[in-house]
Amino acid sequence: MTTPLLDVRNLYLHYADQKGAVHAVDGLSFTLPGKGHALGIVGESGSGKSSLALAIMRLLPTNIARYEGEIYWQGSAISDLSDAQFRREVRWHKIALVPQGALNGFNPVLRVGDQIIEPAVAEGRLPKRAARARAQELLELVGLPVETYDRYPHELSGGMKQRAMIAAALILEPPLVIMDEPTSALDVSVQAQIMNLLKHLKKELGLSIIFITHDIALASDICDSLAVVYAGELVEIGHADVMLTAPQHPYSQKLLASIPRLHDRQLPEFIPGAPPDLRQPPTGCRFHLRCPLVFDRCRVASPPVFEPEAGQETRCWLLDPGDSEPV
Ligand code: ATP
Ligand code: MG
Repeated sequence: MTTPLLDVRNLYLHYADQKGAVHAVDGLSFTLPGKGHALGIVGESGSGKSSLALAIMRLLPTNIARYEGEIYWQGSAISDLSDAQFRREVRWHKIALVPQGALNGFNPVLRVGDQIIEPAVAEGRLPKRAARARAQELLELVGLPVETYDRYPHELSGGMKQRAMIAAALILEPPLVIMDEPTSALDVSVQAQIMNLLKHLKKELGLSIIFITHDIALASDICDSLAVVYAGELVEIGHADVMLTAPQHPYSQKLLASIPRLHDRQLPEFIPGAPPDLRQPPTGCRFHLRCPLVFDRCRVASPPVFEPEAGQETRCWLLDPGDSEPV
């Protein structure tokens, strides 16, 4: 097997708050195989998707109760790097982030171009002239006029700001960009334009993408593989075509059934109940309180990973061939 581009093993990020520890990322493991691959991370609001992005990028708030796990970039353990090394060698270089709510991410009093080149000039990686030329190329690549460089953020529409944010993420030519809900604040036609831009970047630059969204239909538009997260855990991952036609986890099935379909008489389903409090995650399978197929074992023991198909991993006791040890 070839070495994956990104390999995340047992990643934890818990926040401390007045009432305890919020288990936002709770032992997540997954791999992103290689160049030009888009992995979708799908799950309900509050399931820990943005926290996962921040944990990978080491962009952490101060109230951390637990942060650990191994992260490998092409086989080398970037989780072992010091913060200074990580900043110099990984963040924006190898992995960039377009954060959630990025439309409000620009500083209103600085010109857009100066903000795009900031990571490149901040540590003297590129002289300002070269950075400016690169930023202008990137603005064209993302479909913006080069004059956007000298504009202030308030002069740009939402779609233009999102394009400029994507250009900013690409300034140091990272092979992987994490996009956290890149289109949720945009109307549907601008959303479609941004999706087309992402497909273009994936194809033309061989850019790999971690595409975070609560919208599985949107993820299916660009993703080669899909991971479903629930209450801080990854419950299922697999090739997008399998996940969209034959997901095995009841939660993935519910997510899929909640998509409205144009030519289907069946009404979209909704998922009953509410996501659990991540300060006190349920025992056993975290989905058991809402699962239509729950049985005794689900309430007490956390399911291990089963592999119903090659390349598909599902944490659900229904797939137990009968000889697994409860964990
Ligand atoms: P959404 O789809 O709404 O963006 P999400 O899946 O990205 O949600 P996160 O933002 O990662 O979810 O939040 C996961 C959990 O962690 C939530 O319960 C949230 O309230 C909590 N949380 C996030 N940031 C902090 C923080 N700094 N301190 C304490 N709790 C936090
Ligand atoms: Mg989020």
